[in-house]
Amino acid sequence: MLPSSSLYISTRGGIKPLGFAEAVLMGLAEDGGLLLPQSIPDCRQRLPAWSALSYGDLAFEIMSLYIGAAIPPQDLKTLIQQSYAGFDSPEVVPLLKLDEGLFLAELFHGPTLAFKDVALQFLGNLFAWLLQEQGGRLNILGATSGDTGSAAICGVRGKKNINIFILYPEGRVSALQERQMATVPDANVHCLAIEGSFDDGQRIIKDIFAELDFKKEYSLAAVNSVNWARILAQIVYYFWACFRVQENYEQAQRFQVSVPTGNFGDIFAGYMAKRMGAPIERLILASNENDILSRFFNSGEYSRGPVNATLSPSMDIQVASNFERYLYYRCDENPEEVARLMQQFAAGESLRLPDKDSDFAAGSGNSSDTLDCIRRHYQRSGYVLDPHSAVGVSVAERFLQKSHPSICLATAHPGKFPEAIRSALQDEKAGRHPDLEKLKDLPLRKTIIKADKEKIKDFIRNKLKQEQAQS
Ligand SMILES: *Cc1c(COP(=O)(O)O)cnc(C)c1O
Repeated sequence: MLPSSSLYISTRGGIKPLGFAEAVLMGLAEDGGLLLPQSIPDCRQRLPAWSALSYGDLAFEIMSLYIGAAIPPQDLKTLIQQSYAGFDSPEVVPLLKLDEGLFLAELFHGPTLAFKDVALQFLGNLFAWLLQEQGGRLNILGATSGDTGSAAICGVRGKKNINIFILYPEGRVSALQERQMATVPDANVHCLAIEGSFDDGQRIIKDIFAELDFKKEYSLAAVNSVNWARILAQIVYYFWACFRVQENYEQAQRFQVSVPTGNFGDIFAGYMAKRMGAPIERLILASNENDILSRFFNSGEYSRGPVNATLSPSMDIQVASNFERYLYYRCDENPEEVARLMQQFAAGESLRLPDKDSDFAAGSGNSSDTLDCIRRHYQRSGYVLDPHSAVGVSVAERFLQKSHPSICLATAHPGKFPEAIRSALQDEKAGRHPDLEKLKDLPLRKTIIKADKEKIKDFIRNKLKQEQAQS
């Protein structure tokens, strides 16, 4: 019998329990729900032992609980080692003290300088391992408005039997973001600049994935945060961050952790960590002007609003794809109730849940909060926060508690968002990163293409045909 934490069910109850490998390859559950482990292990007894481990060894312990027999232990160790060897900090996620009772966990030391590398480096290696075991090929298809695209590309560039096709709106991502994607020279990377909006890209991808015959024939796979492996890799740093602050700064028993939130993926990993027994008193959900989630945690009502463009573009999301996972626990793990609520929401109604969840505090930071926060901390200590991290810090500052120090997740390097930094600090040089400067001289490799599903499918078909002819 496999332990139930390594078997996966759907939030809507429509699939038979799956092993870890099948869950990763399925992405979204086939009944339209999201995949979750059948149970969450209680790890409180293990905290003292875990607190002495390196990042990689801690990742191994935590991931093993949810992977079970699907990956042999030695292979899992190698996958983790490969995934974090390219980070430019030996600690993978370094912690620092920003202010009294306020700590920062820097999650942006991976190759694309955003926290998404922590999960997507692992997912890329995991896909490659699965193909090596099972044979076959994978064609990853995704749409991006910026950060996810480059991290996903970087996770699989140069890997055998994997292609990646990333759609982004031509002329509507920042020059820097485009360079991070389209200067990658590997032949398995295909950047498609569509003549349309980000929403057009999202819709095309969704429609293509819904064509199950095409999906099967071309072995399409998804890398967005509905993929359970991404959540899994992110659980690790919640434990890690608490341990490092305990060890180096404060002998505090429990912490508040503040998370700048878009799709509810990162903070859902924190919620899992808390349920497993991480010493987290409260999760602080920080949204920008796109505040559906902070409104929900304060009022109990989940209702759509318009999507606004902000200084923290990776959080410009109204309908958060991972919220359904949380809803499952709020509905006492009753899939019928989740399915009913999600249908109601899909039909355009808003949702209402009784009772507040004391595991969360929530707030929204607007552009003046963001700029003010970047400026204040720069003047105090010389530290440059990126605009996403600044949303998290500014909201955390409203909820400070003496007995429970706060750890804020820093999700990107400030060098990725030069316009926001310039308007906060009026300084051309602050927060630059040399790796990003180097990209300026490299040629772009992209295909400009109509925002049309059939054109995109033709592109994929032709690329794969050419590839076959060459091999
Ligand atoms: C994606 C992203 C976020 C939001 O993460 P979610 O998992 O979608 O909540 C926050 N900050 C940065 C820099 C990001 O790239």
